[in-house]
Amino acid sequence: MDCLFCKIVAGRIPAEIVYDSDTALAFRDIDPQAPTHVLVIPRKHVSTINDLDGEDEALVGSLFTAAKEIAAAEGIADDGYRTVMNCNEGAGQSVFHIHLHVLGGRPMTWPPG
Ligand code: 5GP
Ligand code: ZN
Repeated sequence: MDCLFCKIVAGRIPAEIVYDSDTALAFRDIDPQAPTHVLVIPRKHVSTINDLDGEDEALVGSLFTAAKEIAAAEGIADDGYRTVMNCNEGAGQSVFHIHLHVLGGRPMTWPPG
């Protein structure tokens, strides 16, 4: 499968890894939109939120516990941070391997664009 993030999981494309577990991997976004911008991905390929099934519930939960640990390590947990997972092109998804954006280190506005 020709998936960019599967290639990062496999170590075939370099990335600045900041978190690693049995189920999840996190690395810095190549085009950061905030002082901290980390992508948390499942090791298992899932294209979009629409492709999740019941067996993936723990997997998705592990992305959020990873985000919590990353936010603490980055020093943004107390000030606050944004977690975003875009689904499909209309919402801005451009890489079709689900990923949780963790953004922080600057004030976040609402609603997002
Ligand atoms: P999406 O638009 O799908 O929600 O987010 C995809 C993210 O992946 C974007 O923020 C983009 O900057 C990031 N990205 C795209 N290609 C690469 C890459 O090769 N390495 C890293 N670290 N991030 C990437
Ligand atoms: Zn993939």
